[in-house]
Amino acid sequence: MNTNGSVKAENDKRDMHRSFYAHVMGGHLTDLSVNIKRWRESKGFSTSEANFAEKIALCHSELSEALEAHRNGVMSGPDGVPQELAGTIIRVLDLASALGIDIEDAIASEMAKNELRPHKHGKRY
Ligand SMILES: [Mg+2]
Repeated sequence: MNTNGSVKAENDKRDMHRSFYAHVMGGHLTDLSVNIKRWRESKGFSTSEANFAEKIALCHSELSEALEAHRNGVMSGPDGVPQELAGTIIRVLDLASALGIDIEDAIASEMAKNELRPHKHGKRY
């Protein structure tokens, strides 16, 4: 196969993976992010370009809480690993929605890129 054919085949694979992931999400993640944004606004919080760094720090804080919960063996309950991971996702989806990011499209693109990478992305870990 020539270079053009190889590039076309890779683009076709990427498009196939992208379509698959977009299909799997089916708009549900976008709907969730819009609802999270509405909920956040109803509670009087704001998320925008102006406080992007603060919101990223709060995403980090949820992950740190998940780490501490795991270190302490708290695998359930209101401060358990599942709830802290959920908090992380909620904050990320709110941020994406507030900034007008099509998070499903971004995830589909990222996963399509990842699908074409080699085992462990060619790295040791
Ligand atoms: Mg938390």
